[in-house]
Amino acid sequence: MDEQPGAGMGEHGPGITDPFGRITIRMGDITRLETDAVVNAANSTLLGGGGVDGMIHWAAGSGLLEECRAIGWCPTGEARITGGHDLPAAHVIHTVGPVYAVDGENAPRLLESCYLNSLALAAEHGLRSVAFPSISTGSYGYPVREACRIALDTVISFLERHEIPEKVIFVLYSCPDYEAYREYYETLKAGRVGTVGGTNPA
Ligand code: ADP
Repeated sequence: MDEQPGAGMGEHGPGITDPFGRITIRMGDITRLETDAVVNAANSTLLGGGGVDGMIHWAAGSGLLEECRAIGWCPTGEARITGGHDLPAAHVIHTVGPVYAVDGENAPRLLESCYLNSLALAAEHGLRSVAFPSISTGSYGYPVREACRIALDTVISFLERHEIPEKVIFVLYSCPDYEAYREYYETLKAGRVGTVGGTNPA
């Protein structure tokens, strides 16, 4: 990870606000969000598939498929950006999560890369709001309690060092997934209370 000087709590840059106040965790269908970008848990072909990938392609229409076809292959852990086409979101950031049973000991690093590369693309394109699904925890089999730690740790660490995106929304599709994310978020937030920099009362 590209650690930068001043990344610790209490050493925020002038425009960087508390990361906890910039994160929302909610249940829902990510294809309905009017964010600057929604992240797609894609496969390496970028041609659509099951789960959230299928729903995003279905809602975005054939224009998305054409744009993805022109991009071609995306390796695991990397991310690519397209327009949102018929989605309410302006862009789709496609990232390919690890397959838990196949990627083995590389899975945590690859999952972290998915979040980092997606956020880096959002920052590069000046996208203020980005919605993530729970990458790899569906057909790719990553246990949600392990995956949500990587997701939240990585997003919080990125937001501590960057002003953009301003807002990150985790959109969970099931109650157990929502509860896992919420619980870990609350644990992290409670651990920060009283530290320099504090937290927003959100
Ligand atoms: P992966 O192949 O990366 O595991 P999946 O699409 O199978 O991707 O699952 C990733 C997560 O996305 C799962 O937790 C699944 O419940 C969730 N999901 C499926 N459809 C949607 C949707 N429309 N909005 C948000 N999350 C969704």
